[in-house]
Amino acid sequence: MDSGTNATGFHYQEGISLPGALGRTGTIYTPHGDIQTPAFIPVGTKASVKGVLPESIKELGAQAVLANAYHLYLQPGPEVVDEAGGLGSFMNWHGPTFTDSGGFQVLSLGVGFKKVIAMDTETFRSDEVIAANKERLAHVDDDGVTFKSHLDGSMHRFTPEVSMQVQHQLGADIIFAFDECTTLHNTRSYQEKSLERTRLWAKRCLVEHGRLTTIRSDHPYQALFGVLQGAQYEDLRRTAAKDLSALNEEGITFDGFGLGGALYKEKLGTIVRWLCEELPRDKPRHLLGIGEPDDLFVGVENGADTFDCVAPSRQARTSAVFTADGRVNLSNSQYQRKFAPIDSECTCYTCKNYTVAYLSHLFRAKEMVASTLATIHNEHFIVGLVEKMRQNIHSGQFYDFKAEFLGRFYAKRKLLA
Ligand SMILES: [Zn+2]
Repeated sequence: MDSGTNATGFHYQEGISLPGALGRTGTIYTPHGDIQTPAFIPVGTKASVKGVLPESIKELGAQAVLANAYHLYLQPGPEVVDEAGGLGSFMNWHGPTFTDSGGFQVLSLGVGFKKVIAMDTETFRSDEVIAANKERLAHVDDDGVTFKSHLDGSMHRFTPEVSMQVQHQLGADIIFAFDECTTLHNTRSYQEKSLERTRLWAKRCLVEHGRLTTIRSDHPYQALFGVLQGAQYEDLRRTAAKDLSALNEEGITFDGFGLGGALYKEKLGTIVRWLCEELPRDKPRHLLGIGEPDDLFVGVENGADTFDCVAPSRQARTSAVFTADGRVNLSNSQYQRKFAPIDSECTCYTCKNYTVAYLSHLFRAKEMVASTLATIHNEHFIVGLVEKMRQNIHSGQFYDFKAEFLGRFYAKRKLLA
């Protein structure tokens, strides 16, 4: 057994700290391999990073993948994934895996929900916000959430216990407690009630996780992360971090923490800092659903260890790709005769072998491989960016790297502002 691994096969070891901040390097040990942090984890929502084979995901530098419990519960069903030997075996990914609890997906069905919004878009506050022309597809009560499948309209119910059962059947190395994900439009009094509900659900998740870990002791250990809510309120965020790190249900505690909820972009760093100031240093912290370059720097600096987001692959499928000088759209006519890689400094498979002109043609011709090649590049760019942050914390040059990268990546935005 690895010297850094305890009896469960899961362990976190902190490495180097970032001077003057909460950022740090570290290693997460799981039964399916180690994750050097900080790290970006590509999302394979339905047990597939859309358009890209697992071999390519590994080759582009990803250390783990994250799938979604809500989607896999509906299709193909967690019992199918369990019979296949768990998520990793099912999708032929041999490294560490995560599943998120499904709370965000079931609760954001039908509401005008954005993970990160700018504060200037915040004009009203109500607990009955529903996106225009959309039927509300989820209803929450103190015991759980009833929701309508987006696939066939059938009714389903998630409780903390059901989420744990589904995630144990899916078998990922790191799973998340079921939480109520509020929107930034909810009132303060609703956020308070919701936070207490999430705390009670966290206790129930620990109990059910303990029960399932015992009865499924022939399966690899799964680490459970508690999810911290509290919206934009400092007292609620700090309370959430203190409460969930103190929970102990007959010896079962959280193995790590998910920093969750909708966030104002402008307050992202502050909220991550509030949480990480309260959290124990010997457990890893995952910032859920964050993947923009500037947000990743802010997250790393303030103490988040791992990140996931659908943005790099989703944007790639719309022909938007990252370069050191910002995002560009390969479908623009100016790229039809650009016989050079997307980014001359990039070492990914796509940039080593293909030109912008060819990719531009593939997108216009609607060839499937267009999405594949663009996704490989974007995931490599974001995974590589967080890996460079890790290396620069080690070498003591994080802040220089940050200034240089952001200055160049967002230079065009500054000119426009
Ligand atoms: Zn590339």
